[in-house]
Amino acid sequence: MTDRPVLALVAHDAKKDAMVAFVRRNAEKLSVFRLVATGTTGGRILDACPELNLMQLKSGPLGGDQQIGAMIAEGRLDGLFFFADPLSPMPHDVDVKALMRLALVYDIPMALNLSTAEILLRSARLTGLRTTSATPEISVPR
Ligand code: PGA
Repeated sequence: MTDRPVLALVAHDAKKDAMVAFVRRNAEKLSVFRLVATGTTGGRILDACPELNLMQLKSGPLGGDQQIGAMIAEGRLDGLFFFADPLSPMPHDVDVKALMRLALVYDIPMALNLSTAEILLRSARLTGLRTTSATPEISVPR
């Protein structure tokens, strides 16, 4: 295991080019993280930046979003960059909502668009040592 902070990258289809360009531009900054990504997003990123330490999960509609949600619930995720497409219906909309909901419950730094991702990536809160806890401050039914 590594103490590097763990960052999840997800992009809906209409936002994948923007995600790849963002990662290319920020490859050096992102190299301090252990990266995880949903399947197709991760494949596109690795094609562009094969040197990055990135683990591909399942594709979002096939459970990748839920895998990232499980990492949040288990205290294994430090940040989420999710370039969401607000203009297209998604077959897995419930999974997207569930993932965002867990990021809110556990107070995970989350960027839903490019501008916020650029700002968050420069934040010591994200790149510093892990400060998140697997136990949210509000009580969650078991
Ligand atoms: P994908 O999943 O990277 O496998 O396309 C992203 C999503 O739609 O959640």
